[in-house]
Amino acid sequence: MSNKFYITTAIAYTNAPPHIGFALELVQADVLARLHGLRGEKRFFLTGTDEHGRKNMQAAQGAGKKPEEFVDEMAGRFEKLARALNVSNDDFIRTSDQDRHWPGVVQFWKQLQESGDLYKAQYEGLYCSGCEAFKKQSDLEDGMCPDHGKVPDRVKEENWFFRLSKYQKELTRIIGADELRIVPDTRKNEVLSFIAQGLEDVSFSRPRRDLPWGVPVPGDDAQTIYVWADALVNYLTGIGYGHGPGDRVQGTERFETFWPADIHVIGKDILRFHAVIWPAMLLSARLTLPKILLVHGHILSAGKKMSKTIGNVVDPFAIVEKYGVDAVRYFLLKEIPTTADGDFTEDRFLEVYTSSLANNLGNLVGRIAALGKDQEITVQAGQDIQEVAKRAWAEYEAAFAALRLDEALGAVDKFVGFGNEFVERTKPWEGEHNLHGALPQLAWMLGNIAWMLAPLLPETARKIFDQLGIDPGDTALWEGESIKMKKGASLFPRF
Ligand SMILES: [Zn+2]
Repeated sequence: MSNKFYITTAIAYTNAPPHIGFALELVQADVLARLHGLRGEKRFFLTGTDEHGRKNMQAAQGAGKKPEEFVDEMAGRFEKLARALNVSNDDFIRTSDQDRHWPGVVQFWKQLQESGDLYKAQYEGLYCSGCEAFKKQSDLEDGMCPDHGKVPDRVKEENWFFRLSKYQKELTRIIGADELRIVPDTRKNEVLSFIAQGLEDVSFSRPRRDLPWGVPVPGDDAQTIYVWADALVNYLTGIGYGHGPGDRVQGTERFETFWPADIHVIGKDILRFHAVIWPAMLLSARLTLPKILLVHGHILSAGKKMSKTIGNVVDPFAIVEKYGVDAVRYFLLKEIPTTADGDFTEDRFLEVYTSSLANNLGNLVGRIAALGKDQEITVQAGQDIQEVAKRAWAEYEAAFAALRLDEALGAVDKFVGFGNEFVERTKPWEGEHNLHGALPQLAWMLGNIAWMLAPLLPETARKIFDQLGIDPGDTALWEGESIKMKKGASLFPRF
């Protein structure tokens, strides 16, 4: 059993402000990072921004700014989003960082070169600047990129190429055997059938005259490293790769401790880069492969893709401001299936807020706190409650083992629902006898609920621990312990 856990989000492209989809990815990764931390593992959680490439350069031009200036400002907004969502990332890597990121990219490039996997060739192809990728005819719909609805540019140039074709067999085996596990299975099958069609070598650089904004190819200043080839390496440089003492050492102690990544959390639109190109790059550089790719879907709005033209783009900052961080975390984690597409509308959000948070969780916590305020309670639980809790924990653990965060939160919801039923049944407001029978059991239940919520809704968990008058670091509240409860503010006020 390893006692380290390294998790990453994809790094966000800085050509546009943060959207709700990236909020989802941050929160999903945060839950898993916190969970492993709470289990006592040494954890590292990396996120960051992808700042090179033509799209960023054009966005900067559009804003009338220098690329450096533009990406600084945008990266700041992504860091702010992580703070707004109470995300516990341990670091934030930016690919334009010439001290932290570039040396590792150069070292990595040289590794590929030493393996004989980089060569220079003439290339003519169709390039979608939206994807920052060359497209095959078979990728297009009606001659357009299906993701960007644009006709790709015909590009003819001399580039460096990466011998992706060489790794077809090995990738098929590794993914088929789950040595690199792709979750969910539908995404794994999608990748395997893509690989089975045959892998072609990929362009790994662009002429510098067209793309001056990026890492220069080592030993070939006329070329810039392809944005993806530079961006993917962030998973290594973010933990110190390229900064080891001496020439041949690959990285710092942090790198040695944490690589390989245990989980890369990514969106389905960048699956091929992470499931095909990235592992091939790592094989070429003779580095260990990540263990799991956890692939989420897209968030739609009333069934439609969010777009500025339709005017249905959800601003994650506004929604957090209005409803509170844990309400947003709850919706993203529970209502958006962890590995499938989901839907976000403010109406639906409000419905879920009212039924699940205000009327269920908030109600239970409020009731118990009101009943138990300033009382000395010796915590205790009857047989039936212990049975229910045991089942809830088992369901919760199984959901996490399957990386179904929605189901983990669903298990907590059910347990909370049982708590409310218990209150109805035992009527603790009817006299001292009822009160003293129910309260020690309700306090025990609430302690369990707070523990379950700790990685998912950390602020809510902390508030519950506060109301129970216990220290969240104290893992041993339970049977027989005495507490003094406090009444706090309502957790989820009704709108
Ligand atoms: Zn595209």
